[in-house]
Amino acid sequence: MQVAGVRFTVVGAGRSGLAASNALATRGGDVRLVEARADATRPETLDPRVTFVAGTNLPRPGDVAVLSPGVAEVSPVRAEIAAVAAEVIGEVELFYRLSPAPILAITGTDGKSTTTTMLGAIAALANPSTFVGGNLGNPLCEGLDELTRSSLVIAEISCFQLTTCVDFRPRVAIVTNIAEDHLNYHGSFAAYQAAKRRVWAAMTASDTLILSADDPYIAAWERPSAPRIRTFSLANPDADAYFDGATLWLVRAGRNEALMRRDELPLLGGHNVANALAAALAADAWGIPLATAREALMAYAPLPHRLAPIATIDGVRWVNDSKATNANAAAAGIRAIDGPLLLLAGGSEKDADFTAFGALVRERTRVAVLFGQTRNSLASAIGASHNTIVVETLDEAVRAAQRLAEPGDTVLLGPACASFDQFKSYGHRGDVFTALVRDLAAASNPADDGASADAKIKSEGA
Ligand code: ADP
Repeated sequence: MQVAGVRFTVVGAGRSGLAASNALATRGGDVRLVEARADATRPETLDPRVTFVAGTNLPRPGDVAVLSPGVAEVSPVRAEIAAVAAEVIGEVELFYRLSPAPILAITGTDGKSTTTTMLGAIAALANPSTFVGGNLGNPLCEGLDELTRSSLVIAEISCFQLTTCVDFRPRVAIVTNIAEDHLNYHGSFAAYQAAKRRVWAAMTASDTLILSADDPYIAAWERPSAPRIRTFSLANPDADAYFDGATLWLVRAGRNEALMRRDELPLLGGHNVANALAAALAADAWGIPLATAREALMAYAPLPHRLAPIATIDGVRWVNDSKATNANAAAAGIRAIDGPLLLLAGGSEKDADFTAFGALVRERTRVAVLFGQTRNSLASAIGASHNTIVVETLDEAVRAAQRLAEPGDTVLLGPACASFDQFKSYGHRGDVFTALVRDLAAASNPADDGASADAKIKSEGA
C-alpha cells in the first residue's frame, strides 16, 4: 500500500485510531486524526507529524479515511464520511495492507478472546515471533513494527471491525458462533450476520475457514466456495473436530486423532471445549503439530472476568463472568455451573430479546437477582413464577445474593448485558464485583485478623 505522500484522515482518537495514525505517520503519510468530542485533547503518544483536530468527524475531501469501529453501521456519519473520502477503511484493513506477516483471524459472537488467546498460545510455541491482538485490546497496528515475513499474527476481529474491511484476507479464519447481539449498531440481526461473513470475502482456495457445526444460524448460511471449510462440534463425530464426552478429537486425513482428554483442559464449561476445538483446528490448518496444540491448551489459564471463581465464603462459591455481555454468553456460563445457582444479571440496554434466556434462568437458577437498566425487561422475560429479586445496583444485588445464598450454592455474575449503564467497561464491572465479594468475606468474620480471614476464604485463583 502506498502511504508516503498520501493523505489520510483517521476518524476517532481511541486506541486503534492512535495506532493507525502513528503507523501511517511513521511510513510518511500526511495524516490528520479527528475526534468528534470538541473537548478532546491531543493524545500524548500521538506522533508529532500527525495533525490533531477535535470537534469533527469529517475527513478532508479526497483523503483515505480510516474509520473507528465506534461509529455504528447505522450512523449517518458513515455516509457523510464516504461522500467526501476517496476510500473508507478501518484499522484492521490498514493493518492487513501494511503487514508483512500472515494473519489467522477469529470472529463470532462469543468466545473470540478465549479462542484467540488459545490459538495465540499454541502459535507462540510453534513460532516465537507471534503477535496476538486486535479486538482483544491491543490494536493490530501497535504490533506492526515488530513484524517480519516470518512472523505470525493471531487477530481477534469484531463485527464492527469487519464492516470496514475490504481486501482483508486471513489465511485461516474461525467463526466461533452466532447469536443476537449489537442490533443497535448494525440495525438488524441480518446486517450483523452479514458483517461476520465479511471475514471470508477475500479468502482464496489455499485458505481455511473454520465454522461451528452446532450453530443453527451458521448452518443456514450459504457457504463460500473459495476457502476450504473445516467444522467443529461438541457432539457430531462427522465434524473435523469433535468432543465425545471424554476426549477432544481432530479428524485428519480421515483418521481420528486425540487432541486431549476433557480433564486436561483447565477450563469450566462446554463452550470452552468448543473454543479449544476451534483453536486446535486453526493450528492444524496452519501446519502446527497436534502435540503443540495439546501442550499449550493444557497450560492455558482463563482470561480475567470469564467464569473466574473469586472465592468461597461460608460454603458459597462466587464466580465472576462479567464478560458475558449478551444472553448467549451468559447462558454458556450458567450451563457451565453444576449445583444450585444464584444469578446476578442486568446492565445496559442493547435492544436484546431475552425470551430464551428467561426460560433458561427459570430452569437452571434458584434465584435471579436483577440490576441495572435492563432489570425490568429481564424480569418480565423470566416471568413472575420464578424467584426473582429486582434491585438497582450491583452492590445491592451482591447484598441480596449474600442474604439468600446457602452453603453449596454458587453466586454467578453473568450479566447478559453490556456494562455501560453503571460502569466504564465489563472489566470495571468485574473488578467492582470482585471487590464487593472480598468485602463480604472480610465482613463475614469482622473479629478476625487478616490471616484467619484468609483461611476462611478459600481463594480459587483466576
Ligand atoms: P468475546 O471476545 O467474543 O466476547 P470471550 O472469550 O471474551 O468472548 O468470552 C466472553 C463470554 O462469553 C465469557 O464470559 C463466556 O461466558 C462466554 N463464552 C466464551 N466462549 C463461548 C462460546 N464458545 N459460546 C458461548 N459463550 C461463550
